[in-house]
This record gives sequence, structure tokens and C-alpha cells, in this order.
Amino acid sequence: IIRVEGMNKWYGDFHVLKDLNLNVRQGERIVICGPSGSGKSTFIRCINRLEEHQQGKIIVDNIELTDDIRNIDTVRREVGMVFQHFNLFPHLTVLENCCLSPIWVRKTPRKAAEEAAMEYLERVKIPDQANKFPGQLSGGQQQRVAIARALCMKPKIMLFDEPTSALDPEMIKEVLDVMIELAGSGMTMICVTHEMGFAKTVADRVIFMDGGEIVEEAPPHEFFTNPQEPRTQKFLEQIL
Ligand code: ATP
Ligand code: MG
Repeated sequence: IIRVEGMNKWYGDFHVLKDLNLNVRQGERIVICGPSGSGKSTFIRCINRLEEHQQGKIIVDNIELTDDIRNIDTVRREVGMVFQHFNLFPHLTVLENCCLSPIWVRKTPRKAAEEAAMEYLERVKIPDQANKFPGQLSGGQQQRVAIARALCMKPKIMLFDEPTSALDPEMIKEVLDVMIELAGSGMTMICVTHEMGFAKTVADRVIFMDGGEIVEEAPPHEFFTNPQEPRTQKFLEQIL
């Protein structure tokens, strides 16, 4: 469902992503980890064209990402994204945050959008917060709203960029539980995270990036017990 071939990206002179190749099948769950500055966020942001690449191909759900704005819109409808800092609209209630894109982008009638939003808020276990504003919720609750909001667009793929790294420890589990449940439902997921417990439970493959390259890629069992590359070994020693 996602194919990245020989993809390169530069920020000015800085070669940030180097010859990346990745194939993700429908329903696969990929975890990406690696040191700060290795290009993880930039990489997943290229997959929904929040960033543009300069060389190679990115094909999402059979659509190649080029300058064609229609393709970009189509792909963004199919790819949900959850950020480290939630990125909710502070002046809209939880329910309004969830309904905005379904109503304006998918042209869903308001009543149907609200009903669907309530179902997703139940799924992330906060239907009782629907009429509050984001600022009235805990970090963990806000992140679960962000996940529900992305799911309301009925995406085929979900991208997560360090969704728990801004949360207090006691709130991490409630967000990870929602992500584990989502993985169990068959969603195609790419998660940038250093939650190695999550990677072990959920990932089909773990990808290690360093210096803008994919250094190593393996199923979690192999990745954690028998990393091949010295850079991976060093990284794992530091975080485990
Ligand atoms: P972290 O774990 O800290 O989130 P990351 O692996 O997500 O790191 P990126 O945010 O993708 O790393 O950044 C990769 C590199 O690109 C870094 O060296 C960063 O300084 C640089 N970079 C990121 N965004 C820009 C930008 N808009 N312009 C120029 N350089 C950038
Ligand atoms: Mg990042």
C-alpha cells in the first residue's frame, strides 16, 4: 500500500534522507526508531507530503506523490497522522475537532459525522469529554482525541510521530493501549516511537534510521536480540 523507491530529500544543501526504500503491505505495522535528527519525522512527513522529496518515488495506495495537488489531496484523505504535540484546534470542542474534516473534506452530513465521531471517541474511551475544549483535557486524553480525529476520516493508513513522547509516564499507557487496539483491528500503521515494548508487541518490522539512512530493518524479535549493524547495537544499548 506504500512504496518508497530510491527516495532522496535535501533541505537546501543538507542531504536529510538518503536513498530510502520501503514497501509496506496493507495491514502491516512498522515501527521506526533512531537517534534524534536521523530523519524519522521528515521521512513519515514525506509519506503524506507534508514535506516534499526531490528524487525517487513515493507511491501511496497506487497514487504517486508528485506536484499534482489533486493527488496530494487524495493521498491525505487516506493517510491519518498523529503528532507528538497533538495539534488539536484549541478553539473547537473535542467533537468539533473530530467532525471538521469529515464535514468539510469528505462532505459527510453533520449528524452522521457527529455520530461517527462519538463512536470513535468511545473507541478511545473518552466519549464523556466530547463537549470539552482540548485545553480542559490531560495530555493523554488530548492524544486520544487526536487519534479519534484521524480515524474519523476513515484512513487506510495511520502515521504516528512519537505520539507518547510528550506525555507523562502515567498517560503513556492509555495512548499505547489505543494504538495496540488499532493495530489489532488491521490498520496499516507506521509509528515513529522509542516505546520498544510497543514495537515488540505490535510491529511486524522495526526500522532503524541513522544519518538519513535506513541502516537496518528486521522483525522485532531479530531486531532486539540480534541486531546486525554496529550503529543499531550502539543505539539499542543506549535506550534499553
Ligand atoms: P527527533 O527524534 O529529534 O524527532 P528526527 O529523526 O525526527 O529527530 P527530523 O526532524 O526528521 O529528525 O530531522 C532530520 C534532520 O533534518 C535534522 O538534522 C534537522 O535539523 C533537519 N531539519 C528538519 N527540519 C528541517 C527544516 N525545515 N529545514 C532544515 N533542516 C531541517
Ligand atoms: Mg522527529
